[in-house]
Amino acid sequence: MLQFARSTFFREVEEDIPEIPQHKFNFVEYDQLSSRVDINDILSDVIGRLISIKGVEESNVGNRVVKRRNLTIQNIREESLGITLWGEIGQNFDENAVQQMSEPVIIAFTAMATKQYLGGLYVASTSATSFYFEPTIAESEKIKRRFSHSIQGIDFITPSTEKPTTLEEQKTMNRLMIAELRCLDPYQNQDQKFTTKATITQIDAQQGWFYNACPRCYRRVRQSGTSWWCDTHAYLTTIPISWYKINARIEDSTGGINIVMLGKTVQSLVNKACSILTIQEGYTDPNIIPPLIDQLKGMSKIFLIQFRPRGAFIDATIVKTFDDDESQMLLPAPPVQSPKHIPQPLTSLDPQTPLPETKKGVKKQLFITESTTEEIQSSPQQHPSSTEIQTSFADPSKKRKESRSDEKGKKIRHG
Ligand SMILES: [Zn+2]
Repeated sequence: MLQFARSTFFREVEEDIPEIPQHKFNFVEYDQLSSRVDINDILSDVIGRLISIKGVEESNVGNRVVKRRNLTIQNIREESLGITLWGEIGQNFDENAVQQMSEPVIIAFTAMATKQYLGGLYVASTSATSFYFEPTIAESEKIKRRFSHSIQGIDFITPSTEKPTTLEEQKTMNRLMIAELRCLDPYQNQDQKFTTKATITQIDAQQGWFYNACPRCYRRVRQSGTSWWCDTHAYLTTIPISWYKINARIEDSTGGINIVMLGKTVQSLVNKACSILTIQEGYTDPNIIPPLIDQLKGMSKIFLIQFRPRGAFIDATIVKTFDDDESQMLLPAPPVQSPKHIPQPLTSLDPQTPLPETKKGVKKQLFITESTTEEIQSSPQQHPSSTEIQTSFADPSKKRKESRSDEKGKKIRHG
């Protein structure tokens, strides 16, 4: 910061001075971005020529609908990079102005966050992002010269008109009773999400209620001497953070199922960050459940569940919770007495009926979208500590397995 005080005075410079550049960037090569995936404290400046621009679309982020614009830029080696501009910055990106510009159109984006989706990298705008058309810098000139005779024009892509799923649709998506959930083969249903209306009845203190996590990726870290080790980010330069991980049981009138709930999902239920409980309030024993967490017992919610792999195991993981604002109805009688008899084909699992999630999956493969940060961040603790007891699932019935793989084949052809 520059501060002008009463004694400050100004004098015009009369000598020759070197030209002061209009912009200053710190560009990152596209192939260096992979080391920055999901590291939210290191933002990147990127530059390239614009090769595609898509109209503004809407997508779900948490419980909000957010506008988004996707672009693609290319560097001097003709490598492409996807750009996602969120909210206002995407809406302010003037498509018509681009149409008037002579190609190649060079753009620099600053303070972008690096993300990964389906194995590919892209960068997304942050609140600090700005973009500059044809900045007067050497890099810009270089790219312009490289593509001055290129015949590839900018591809203007019409946005998808598909509306993002509403909150109501999310709350009722693939709604099952717990007895039905228990009959699903977790391995065959990893790409689906299910909702169930249930009550938390038990919290398993033996498996702890938090763990020490890498502040960058939220994976479990291990102590090694006086330092901490993250399998993705090596030795931590800071202390680890406390991250919720609760093994609990939810029940409805048809039965109960063991679930895992992580990070911000728990935080949204107790309205307190895990580190406040551990650092400020002194609950440092992972096997003693603090009263605030114990209060989760008896809580009734709509749970969004996904079967998520963790090492060799699969957890029924709660990825989101919703308040159930329907008036309380009497729960229907259990549809079955024994899970063995369930295989009543569930309408939502009929291979002929594409599920809403399936469509979304296809869409995501075609267009870059931001995946829900919480889900990625809290997903696989790939290296569970051996002391953890895992939720295990019975072997799936052969019949169901066949029908599921059938659907898989269908899906691939669609995609
Ligand atoms: Zn990490």
